[in-house]
Amino acid sequence: MANSHNPTADCIFCKIIAGELTSQTIAETDRVIAFRDINPQAPLHALIVPKRHYGDVAQVAGADPELLAEMVSLADEVASEHADGQFRFIFNSGPNAGQSVFHVHGHVLGGTKLGWNPA
Ligand code: IMP
Repeated sequence: MANSHNPTADCIFCKIIAGELTSQTIAETDRVIAFRDINPQAPLHALIVPKRHYGDVAQVAGADPELLAEMVSLADEVASEHADGQFRFIFNSGPNAGQSVFHVHGHVLGGTKLGWNPA
């Protein structure tokens, strides 16, 4: 899948990271940001987003596995601070899987007992 390591003019998450669009940021490290999803599917629904632009989870895993580990750590921190520490961490990879923003992000869902209906 095509990818750019440069922020793209039409990437909404790059714009949030650059401060050009507002977000409800709830945690941040040097390399990763967490902000609330605008269309929450659970009491806690945050997006864990690396500040460097990668298109999907396989790209970030291949290029920088440590960055992926940092994303998991920030998901755990967010779930501990904003829910009971238990969470689901989902990456949609590709349009058929539901990916609609092509800057890699993990969905952190928690704060309730979650069902399981991936379709
Ligand atoms: P995807 O469908 O897995 O790519 O997830 C994209 C997510 O980004 C969706 O859950 C959207 O609700 C969310 N989203 C889109 N635009 C914004 C925004 O400006 N702020 C926060 N979340 C957003």
